[in-house]
Amino acid sequence: MTARGYEDLRVVSGPRSGATIALAVHSTALGPALGGARMWHYDSAGDGVADALRLARAMTYKAAAAGLDLGGGKGVICAPAPERPAGELRRRMLLDFGDAVEALEGRYVTAEDVGTGAADMVTIAERTAHVVGLPVERGGRGDPSPLTARGLQAAIAACLEHRFGNPSVAGVRIGVIGVGSVGSRLARMLAGAGAELVISDLDPARRALAEELGAAWVDPEEAIAADCEVLAPCALGGAIDATTLERLRCQIVCGSANNVLADERLATTLVARGILFAPDFIVNAGGLINVYAELHNLDDDLALHLVDRIGPTVRQVLDAADQREVTPLAAAQEQVLERLREATAAAA
Ligand code: NAD
Repeated sequence: MTARGYEDLRVVSGPRSGATIALAVHSTALGPALGGARMWHYDSAGDGVADALRLARAMTYKAAAAGLDLGGGKGVICAPAPERPAGELRRRMLLDFGDAVEALEGRYVTAEDVGTGAADMVTIAERTAHVVGLPVERGGRGDPSPLTARGLQAAIAACLEHRFGNPSVAGVRIGVIGVGSVGSRLARMLAGAGAELVISDLDPARRALAEELGAAWVDPEEAIAADCEVLAPCALGGAIDATTLERLRCQIVCGSANNVLADERLATTLVARGILFAPDFIVNAGGLINVYAELHNLDDDLALHLVDRIGPTVRQVLDAADQREVTPLAAAQEQVLERLREATAAAA
């Protein structure tokens, strides 16, 4: 099966599990298509396929923007019910998924995503070698969030430099929405560097972090309207929609959540309101770099070097956006397309 603009789309019914499995390869122009395996319950198999296509394309952009020799792909395993599949059914679904990955002969490499974890990658590895995100004891690099948080901190500094001429966070008021794996690490690093923090999470137990760091705590409904220089959405995607955008009181939006904007057209409205938006697919590439390092056996220094390039990349995109009078999102997308065009031309 093919989908317009994609290199490949495989949709199979798992012989062991009966689960619908979709593998979308958007582009291998820069390298093998890497993207996580999402296990999720969709209203229909068609919705699962559509999700695989959408997410595969986003992975191409993320890898290209980070300067990695990787393409974009995604795997979706449709769960039969909203409850997390467990036991023998889960194992059968993962083995079926592994066979589907293997059939692509390395053009797609899978990893963890929503609904799957490192232990699931071990099961998938029984059927294919094209899998990363393995536990440390199996040669993997473990939790990606320290690298994601480090890249995000570099991106925030780049935004501050662009807007105020000074990358330092000391004394800068920063709102972190969602203090889970990435947000809590970011909050600790920012507090250590002297930022004035406002933090929020749906989980009231996270309030303890605010107390520990001497940060102000706001309820989740109010977090989007926090009075701050930088707002870092680190919870779920879609935090900024047409309604919440009106409530923003920050000057910069720079967070780790994938697809922070519910609609890409809001990038223009943000510019009109004088708010700088750092595209999330550049800012949160640290997690992808973590699995890229696993794939290529890179040492820690090289992985950190790749993450530290996120700051200069953000600066470049913001400068290009100013020069061309386009949104930072459009400037980043143009830069990605240029890199893909060059790679395709070189291969021809
Ligand atoms: P996580 O699940 O560990 O943390 C998310 C936190 O957000 C949780 O504490 C949750 O309670 C909170 N939350 C959810 N909805 C909220 C709301 N409406 N208001 C306030 N808090 C809310 O997830 P994570 O690994 O820290 O990832 C955070 C975001 O960054 C996700 O969008 C993820 O896709 C993205 N991301 C993560 C990585 C990584 O390395 N973990 C890499 C790239 C992108």
